[in-house]
Amino acid sequence: MYTSIIYLEPFSDGNLRAFGYDMFTDPTRRHAMIHARDTDTIGITGRVSLVQELDSDNQAGFLMYLPVFQNRRPHDNEVDRRNHILGWVYAPFQIRDFMAEIGGERGTDLRLSIYDGEKISAATLMYTDQADPIQGKGISKTIHLAIGGHIWTLAIHSETSLKDWLNTYHPLIILISGVGLSMLLSLSIRQYIARGQALAMAAAVNQELQESEMRFRLMADSAPVLIWLTDVNQAAIWFNKQWLQFTGQRLSENLGQGWLSLVESSQKKWLLKVLHWHYQIRKPFNLEFRLRRYDGAYRWILNTGVPRFNNNGDFVGFIGSCIDITQHKEMEEELWELATTDGLTGFLNRRHFLVRLREEFDRIQRNDKLQSALLMLDIDHFKRINDSYGHAIGDEVLKHFAQIIRSQQRKVDIVGRMGGEEFAVILPDTNLSEARVLAERLLHTVARTPLAHEVSLIKITISIGVAQLNIHSESADSALKQADQALYRAKEAGRNQIAVQSLLAITNIQPRH
Ligand code: GH3
Ligand code: MG
Ligand code: MG
Repeated sequence: MYTSIIYLEPFSDGNLRAFGYDMFTDPTRRHAMIHARDTDTIGITGRVSLVQELDSDNQAGFLMYLPVFQNRRPHDNEVDRRNHILGWVYAPFQIRDFMAEIGGERGTDLRLSIYDGEKISAATLMYTDQADPIQGKGISKTIHLAIGGHIWTLAIHSETSLKDWLNTYHPLIILISGVGLSMLLSLSIRQYIARGQALAMAAAVNQELQESEMRFRLMADSAPVLIWLTDVNQAAIWFNKQWLQFTGQRLSENLGQGWLSLVESSQKKWLLKVLHWHYQIRKPFNLEFRLRRYDGAYRWILNTGVPRFNNNGDFVGFIGSCIDITQHKEMEEELWELATTDGLTGFLNRRHFLVRLREEFDRIQRNDKLQSALLMLDIDHFKRINDSYGHAIGDEVLKHFAQIIRSQQRKVDIVGRMGGEEFAVILPDTNLSEARVLAERLLHTVARTPLAHEVSLIKITISIGVAQLNIHSESADSALKQADQALYRAKEAGRNQIAVQSLLAITNIQPRH
């Protein structure tokens, strides 16, 4: 057990020497401290050399201790007191200064000495106002005082003759009891003041702490967010009520790394890595991931963390809050879908297809080995379908056609509805001849897959223009124009066919039936 001095006023001179001094290493101090702790009263040491008093003027002193126990832990019996001792508040006294402070009137022929304990010896002498206290002539009287678990001996000597002394016997008694009472009173007052001050200080600090703690907990437990606290080692040390309600778990299950078992498994590794990084840089973070709710559903949460620092500016961990953003995410996705896709076919709308096309163009420009292809598709004589079957069936044909594209497209291909019955497809990392094969397959599938409508079959054909997207392409828009021109040529050449844009010549490919 260490009982080092951690606080001492004033912060100057000899006091500075005392910081860190472990009181228990000195048997005299230890004895008084143990007495104070075990009896929950004041403890007073015997004669000690104060750590502060290392100069030539080395006057004897004593120390007074008041035990301080852990908050809200019992200290009604000795065992509890030993287990729940937090420290001691103490006051050092220099005996000469102390006696000078007591003051009071005293006969000039009377000398006072104070000894530590019951023995009168040079070694136990704490205070005297006479040259040779032990060998004092005349009449003397000793009295013992028990204060704070310690015995003091007061020796009073008269240096005058017996007769004179006898005449002054009465005043002597007054003196003896006076000095004793003064000492007792002074110590009691100091005890009282020390205890009172210490308790008041402790109570004030305590109340402040309790209030701020209570404020925090009240806020944390009533806030509609999940709140967590971690230590410097990235281990969770606290969760608020909302967190426990949300996860349906006990606090103990979530402490340390326990909470990680609630994170969706595919995100765990990534999350740990990002968190670890933020513990290194000690900067705030915002992270979105999926957390298992009490009902087993994984919910998207936004987790905001802020680093915590103590009064000395040392990093002590993070505090953070989480909100369930699942609905927000779903709405966002819905809005995104609405904004970027075509309602009838589910393909990208023209605006977003152009965004993706420009992205693809930028990607290609970064590497001269990359090339992609672009298809432009248009249903032949679609007006006639509308005219013969009506607009609603026209829509069905569009959906039917979209379904065929979907069945033929590769995962990486990006399809957009450019308007009406006109579609475009980005074929990433595809050269012209590969694009032609894909276009042909699509062309033939469409021609062979009529839409069944009542008793008849609605036959459709399409025309396709193919263009290349590579480092030589001027822009995404120019590539689109090339594909459009190729499509126009396919139409011109009689429809139900593919036209490929070529730098030197346009190759028309007749469909095979
Ligand atoms: P071409 O072979 O030259 O492409 O002949 P086309 O009849 O397909 O000619 P064009 O592309 O000029 O006509 C497209 C028609 O598609 C015009 C319009 O009435 C019709 N259309 C455009 N959007 C829709 C739609 O969303 N639903 C339906 N049912 N028809 C549409
Ligand atoms: Mg058309
Ligand atoms: Mg058209």
